[in-house]
Amino acid sequence: MELVKTKSVVVQEADTLHLTTDNLPALQPGEARIKVQFASICGSDIHIWHGHNPFAKYPRVIGHEFCGIIDEVYEASQQHRVGQFVVIDPVVSCGNCYPCRIGRPNVCKTLQVIGVHRDGGFSQYANVPLKNAYLAPRSVSPELCSLVEPYTIAANMTAFLKPTPQDCALIYGAGPMGLTAVQVLKNVYQVAEVIVVDRIAERLVRAKDNGADYVFNNLQQPLSEHLAGKQPTLVIDAACHPSILAEAVQVISPAGRIGLLGFSQDPCTVTQQSLTSKELSIFTSRLNSSRFPQVIEWFEQGLVQPEKLVTDRFALQDAEQAMHRFEIAVKHSCKVLLSMDE
Ligand SMILES: [Zn+2]
Ligand SMILES: [Zn+2]
Repeated sequence: MELVKTKSVVVQEADTLHLTTDNLPALQPGEARIKVQFASICGSDIHIWHGHNPFAKYPRVIGHEFCGIIDEVYEASQQHRVGQFVVIDPVVSCGNCYPCRIGRPNVCKTLQVIGVHRDGGFSQYANVPLKNAYLAPRSVSPELCSLVEPYTIAANMTAFLKPTPQDCALIYGAGPMGLTAVQVLKNVYQVAEVIVVDRIAERLVRAKDNGADYVFNNLQQPLSEHLAGKQPTLVIDAACHPSILAEAVQVISPAGRIGLLGFSQDPCTVTQQSLTSKELSIFTSRLNSSRFPQVIEWFEQGLVQPEKLVTDRFALQDAEQAMHRFEIAVKHSCKVLLSMDE
């Protein structure tokens, strides 16, 4: 196999981002080489850049949301997959440990996340396990296919929460995680009412555009006043601040379910009584457990609108500028796409 040179976005160490050109390592058994077409920037890329991700080892090619064409495979028996346009599941698991055996590879005891623990997709080429490469949905334009991964976060969480049309859902945070959750709750699960709360007015406008029935700004006025006694039955914390759980427990209906996505190391303070008196269920969700086929199906059926999330497009060459845009322009930016073509 010939080695290819690849231009990549590398975090050398905390706060040091470089565009480098290097040989891509040779393929290992089970792997495929992806000629990356498009990628999208996520909050966790920013955390790795600034040294706030405890799992990242440096130097690291970042990027876990990407799609591209299978360019080469290690096993001759898989040659038929060369040329396929695919989306990449970043979860690499052992297949043998307890969580893997019960179908939860996303919390594998030796979990490796592409773009975090191993090199990722902000690059012209990336080596990934072939089994992590799924045929991309054909119903949307190729540039939207890197957005399958963010929807798998909502798919994983809603698999725990089991939303129904009877629910009144409250979502904290109108960033990418909150907005994918809005679309999934409204369009996949037909949830009757979806409320979104955020502190940035421009983001709340986007939440409405993505299908939220009510939006509240809790910068000046506390959420409980906005709700005026209405009790949501399902709460998703996509803002990920440790103070949110206690408020959610207060405002939620008895028999409600709460979904947490945050990774803060600060404690959340709730009493047993506040949970047990309402018999609340709390679920946590990390990455996704084999949810790519389900989300690809949602794309194919037009149940989600990934185009509504895209606000900015940059070339790989301008990746640092793109990362700044995502980080600084929180009012106006949602998903920022990177295109790898020269
Ligand atoms: Zn992400
Ligand atoms: Zn495992």
